[in-house]
Amino acid sequence: MAGLLFVISGPSGVGKSTLRKEVMNRCSGLKYSVSCTTRPPRPGEVEGVDYYFVTPEAFEEMKERGEFIEWAKVHGNYYGTPRRPIEEWWREGFDVILEIDVQGALQVKKSCPEGIFIFIAPPSLRALEERLRKRNTDPEDEILLRMTNANLEMAHIKDYNYLVVNDDFEEAVQRLCAIIIAERCRIRER
Ligand code: 5GP
Repeated sequence: MAGLLFVISGPSGVGKSTLRKEVMNRCSGLKYSVSCTTRPPRPGEVEGVDYYFVTPEAFEEMKERGEFIEWAKVHGNYYGTPRRPIEEWWREGFDVILEIDVQGALQVKKSCPEGIFIFIAPPSLRALEERLRKRNTDPEDEILLRMTNANLEMAHIKDYNYLVVNDDFEEAVQRLCAIIIAERCRIRER
């Protein structure tokens, strides 16, 4: 593996995407892996930027052809990480960031144990619920499902290498950049 693989997880609504975008503005040499999903787009989401929005049938075919390095059913929809772009970016010398759920991260950990696993946590579950409601993009039953999953996901913090609490945004960005810089400096066995 030429490049590094940073895997970011954390409950829905914790601010992973906003943090990741800011980290990518500040740290060069990173590529974000856009996932495929069967979930319908939210207002403002762009095909090929936020996700590749695919039908359940197309997802199933990609899965059968082994095109995903991991896939999972999250909150009732399917999500998967396409393999090919990652391999190309590594060949070109980039490091890659995945933003995936805990089930997906555990699969990647098996196939790519040298990945760097980072968990983003909210300051509290109450703060997370407030955030999800403010985002105003999901119906009530969806919010409850996301809160139940948040509890389950937090139980997996121990499976990650780093924990970043997204309380103060600027501080969280700095911590993520620090992790990336430190990992790039780390001496690895060849
Ligand atoms: P959302 O629907 O809110 O965009 O994402 C729901 C959850 O699915 C988030 O935790 C997000 O990180 C996760 N997710 C997004 N893409 C993937 C993927 O390719 N694989 C897996 N396992 N989870 C993903």
